[in-house]
Amino acid sequence: MVKVGVLALQGAFREHAEVFDALGAETCLVKRPDQLAGIDAIALPGGESTTQTKLLATSGLKDPLIQAMRDGLGCFATCAGMILLAAELHDARADQQPLALLDISVQRNGYGRQVLSFEAEIDIDGMPEGFTGIFIRAPRVTRVGNSVEVLASLGSDPVLVRCGNIWAAGFHPELSNDLRLHQLFLNQLATTEGV
Ligand code: GLN
Repeated sequence: MVKVGVLALQGAFREHAEVFDALGAETCLVKRPDQLAGIDAIALPGGESTTQTKLLATSGLKDPLIQAMRDGLGCFATCAGMILLAAELHDARADQQPLALLDISVQRNGYGRQVLSFEAEIDIDGMPEGFTGIFIRAPRVTRVGNSVEVLASLGSDPVLVRCGNIWAAGFHPELSNDLRLHQLFLNQLATTEGV
């Protein structure tokens, strides 16, 4: 069985844990470095990336998390989680250093004040029917590196990207009452991990 940790420092972590539970994964909350042991993947939830960045440092999780992901830990990041993973940020706070684990550039709150939150139907590679993306002060992906595959776009903007077993969405699949994207991630993880 796949074991998924959900980073539980701030934001919509309970919702992710509920979805992974409902899909039959073994799920645990991660607040301390020792809780990274034994997990196959980590979910980085939406929330407030500035606060999450600070808490990653003060909890002592930042460096062990970077090391674990470099060593192959899978990752399912949404919204603020996508911001944490990016290689380069625009409109971030001056002291907000991303983890640089995924070669994308991201503009925080990139959809402007007038449409800070919206829903949009998106087509996801590997999913036969459309998916409702819930975007809440969403990051806008402004550059995707060669190693990164785009699995869904909104107009010309990538909104779901993947590099190996690291996935990042600009929207909130954990809030749409639709388990299919988490399931797709677990399926891929099981294939690559041989779980
Ligand atoms: N705009 C938020 C940030 O910068 C992310 C919003 C979200 O996760 N819904 O952290």
